[in-house]
Amino acid sequence: MTDAGAVTLSGIGMTSARTRERLVQRLVEQGIKDGRILDRIRSVPRHRFVDEALASRAYEDTALPIGHGQTISQPYVVARMTEALLARGTPGTVLEVGAGCGYQTAVLAPLVGELFSIERIKPLVSRARARIEELGFENVKLRHADGMLGWKSRAPFDAILVAAAPHAVPPQLLQQLADGGRLVLPVGPEGQQELLRITRRGDQFARERLGFVSFVPLVGGVA
Ligand code: SAH
Repeated sequence: MTDAGAVTLSGIGMTSARTRERLVQRLVEQGIKDGRILDRIRSVPRHRFVDEALASRAYEDTALPIGHGQTISQPYVVARMTEALLARGTPGTVLEVGAGCGYQTAVLAPLVGELFSIERIKPLVSRARARIEELGFENVKLRHADGMLGWKSRAPFDAILVAAAPHAVPPQLLQQLADGGRLVLPVGPEGQQELLRITRRGDQFARERLGFVSFVPLVGGVA
């Protein structure tokens, strides 16, 4: 990968190994244990996913604006959701809803078999696609569509991760989960969202509550 942005910025320490290591240490202190995920947080160039004006803040553990009223997720939340998703091994076929700028996509891609990712805002799809191509992932397919409906032709999925909060769990996502598969998503109205992990066993769906979170809403239709 040629990364002109990193070269310029590293000169002034914004993207230095030390800055990234500080972020990784913070996630360890907050309970992230999976070394594969910590390695991804260390190596994914988060500064490439935000506007240049915000690049100096890219390795802070905070959400940042990416335009269109959306945000790049907080690294802790990305790590926490990825850990919840991967807890038992490596899922083969994975669906991501709400690619945004593609940061979570880049964290996840090498940790899964095939990654299908949906984003409803067209300019963000183009932006995420450019980053994913730049980083050289060949197992990622991005689509401009309404992720609330899932991606029927590619189902069933061993794992589904949703990065925006619906008021209730979308039934299509449950239907597209493989037997034994898991769905990790925030659910609830603004200010009262809870992160859930739902595991499918036949026609039974077991819910685990993973704590309170704050996400942008999952919105139907495309823009
Ligand atoms: N995963 C991103 C975070 C994106 S924020 C990251 O790594 O930083 C959530 C994203 O979900 C937004 O880009 C928003 O446009 C998208 N979104 C909301 N509702 C959606 C839907 N129904 N289908 C697909 N994407 C949706």
